[in-house]
Amino acid sequence: MKILAFDIGGTEIKYAFCDENFSLSKKNSVPTNAHEGGKRIIERIVEIIKDCGGADRIGISTAGQIDSEKGAVIYATDSIPGYTGTKIKEIIEAETGIPTAVENDVNSAAIGEAVFGAAKGCPNFICLTYGTGIGGAIFLDGKLFTGCSFSAGEFGHMITHANGRDCTCGGKGCYEAYASARALVNNVREKLGREMNGREIFAEFENPEIRTLIDEWIDEIVIGLKSLIYIFNPPLIVAGGGIMNEKYIIDEINNRLHTQLMGSFNEVKIVKALMGNDANKLGAAYLASKI
Ligand SMILES: [Zn+2]
Repeated sequence: MKILAFDIGGTEIKYAFCDENFSLSKKNSVPTNAHEGGKRIIERIVEIIKDCGGADRIGISTAGQIDSEKGAVIYATDSIPGYTGTKIKEIIEAETGIPTAVENDVNSAAIGEAVFGAAKGCPNFICLTYGTGIGGAIFLDGKLFTGCSFSAGEFGHMITHANGRDCTCGGKGCYEAYASARALVNNVREKLGREMNGREIFAEFENPEIRTLIDEWIDEIVIGLKSLIYIFNPPLIVAGGGIMNEKYIIDEINNRLHTQLMGSFNEVKIVKALMGNDANKLGAAYLASKI
């Protein structure tokens, strides 16, 4: 079976062919040009499918809240204008005649990790991605738990600080305003007056001022994880996002959690995601293989 898998992000549309062994080939990407709107993005996907000579199935991982049964966008922020309401599956199937699966990007990545990566063989786990914000996904008994309107797992908007910092969701004190990779970058800018990305911050790990900010930020990560562990009692938490490649973070999260949690929750292990950029495409391809 030849599957064409897409990963629609805010800046790039990545795509690749996937065979029946879930090996990716002919990886490619084009700019999303999100400002041109959701309709144009889907038109471009259809063009790519035709240019590639078609496939047996199409799998799509995309930003936004997705009704995975209908393959439609329930809600997307203005970063992709007019994307809300787009019937991705219906349009692509009508234009190409190829059966298509559509899933939210964080859920796709979690499926990629569940089937091929860090959570392989583990039917119960939660997954968090630390980047500009914090995304989340919940796996229970081997299945993605989506909630009643396909929106479960918005861990970034758990409130960890009452009346705290403003959040992009319009709320105050959300987890991602304190524990995302962007929050660390913002803290360094505010406290030290330096504009640095995550990699640059960790390159100065020996600088005591930087080290303090990293340690305070890891405390914020741990605060949110503790609540999630008490709710789900998971054996495994998969942490994704480029910044989690810094081994110190995962080691410290495990150390701090295991000294702070009530004893009966101590089985939990925090591991980093393994599939990197391919997780979304693999998850979408896996879903497409099942239709
Ligand atoms: Zn929020």
